[in-house]
Amino acid sequence: MPTGAELADAVPEPAREICRVLARAGKRGWVVGGCVRDLLRGRPVADWDICTDALPHELQRLFPRTIPTGIEHGTVTVLMNRQPFEVTTLRGEGAYGDGRRPGSVTFLTDIDADLARRDFTVNAIALDPLTAALADPFDGQGDLARGVIRAVGEPRARFSEDGLRVLRAARFVSTLEGTLDPATEAAIGETLGTFRKVSPERVRDEWMKTMKARAPSASFEVMRRTGILSVTCPELLESVGHEQNRWHAFDVWGHAMSCLDACEGGPVLRLAALLHDIGKPRTRAFSDKTQDYTFFDHERVGARMCDAILGRLRFSNDERQRVVELVKHHLICYDDSWSDAAVRRWIRRVGQELTGDLWALARADAQAKGRPVDEELATLERLVGRVEGVLAAGQALTVRALAVDGHDLMRELGMRPGRQLGETLEALLQAVLDDPTANERERLLALARARLAPG
Ligand code: ATP
Ligand code: MG
Repeated sequence: MPTGAELADAVPEPAREICRVLARAGKRGWVVGGCVRDLLRGRPVADWDICTDALPHELQRLFPRTIPTGIEHGTVTVLMNRQPFEVTTLRGEGAYGDGRRPGSVTFLTDIDADLARRDFTVNAIALDPLTAALADPFDGQGDLARGVIRAVGEPRARFSEDGLRVLRAARFVSTLEGTLDPATEAAIGETLGTFRKVSPERVRDEWMKTMKARAPSASFEVMRRTGILSVTCPELLESVGHEQNRWHAFDVWGHAMSCLDACEGGPVLRLAALLHDIGKPRTRAFSDKTQDYTFFDHERVGARMCDAILGRLRFSNDERQRVVELVKHHLICYDDSWSDAAVRRWIRRVGQELTGDLWALARADAQAKGRPVDEELATLERLVGRVEGVLAAGQALTVRALAVDGHDLMRELGMRPGRQLGETLEALLQAVLDDPTANERERLLALARARLAPG
């Protein structure tokens, strides 16, 4: 691990300058929490949080540009070289009445006492960038080296104060690639009553942060084991122990976990990977014909379930719809007998802008079977190639790309706005999907005329 001096050198100049201003006023400043943890791990630091023994009104006097962000809890945003830093007065916390925030805060002068209110030992380290001294009263460095996430103090008491901490514990297992200290893990199940009070928005935010880890499944396994998932997403638990068909080595849950980790992409795509088979347990049946399990229509059932789950967890409409579409279309029953028209119809059905994410999901889905899937992947790549060919050729795949529009049909054929107009355009698109050379104004008008006046 890097030495204190190396760490201090890595603190950006504006943060050090804040600490220098504090020192000139007879106060102290430390960088603290997640930034010190990530510095020790050699990872890039997003936010530099600073703590100090100066009081909020003293900060407002010492620094020309401040914003009273959370001044009643002791947090002032200091702008240094136009960069914002949250500077928080050392504090202890009064009793937590509601399981979400302390009823009162007391300002302190002792850094160790401030560190004691923090959630995990790895998050309870402070660094004075001027002296390079580390404050680490709970051996956070040791736990970081061992890869252990351990509550500061008595885990049950800490989790009963603030229900969000159990979810943060689960998240750090995958983002820090560590394990939970056994006593810390055991306390989660005993404090779920407090966890229930956490707002769905906070759950959503933690899920999204978890999705950025290399292997988020470690966190979801913790959530399953401890009961967190029974509060936030009991639907996912239905897949635990659900046997699949013989192409799979894992149950539905294990498959979802390995698909989640294998899926390369952003958090929303990974959310789809997590949930892609969620409809399976509700649609499973044993087929006498194949002597195997089948899942009837599970992608449509799953898409509806995703809609409900992600609505409940307050995901944005865009995120929710994206996942719903991906789940609905993730089964790609392609084989090489597909005609070019069939490929075009498939693109039209799923939507061109979905294809990139669908490839990533389908690759992960195949890899997550836990069986040799080279052939399946090769087949998928042939579809990818054909779709790319269609897209590169710029062939019409939507009504909007047709050489005629509704106005043309009204002007040339005397049609009126309404259902028949929409149906006619759709029929023209089907003709163009069959034969892209038909996408010419006169040919389409002739087709429309023939359709309106059969025989
Ligand atoms: P990340 O920024 O990667 O989400 P972080 O640990 O930096 O992780 P922040 O929310 O930025 O998380 O919080 C900064 C620090 O504040 C933490 O490192 C920890 O010391 C403390 N902290 C945050 N949330 C809690 C909490 N719920 N209970 C106790 N301490 C907390
Ligand atoms: Mg942080």
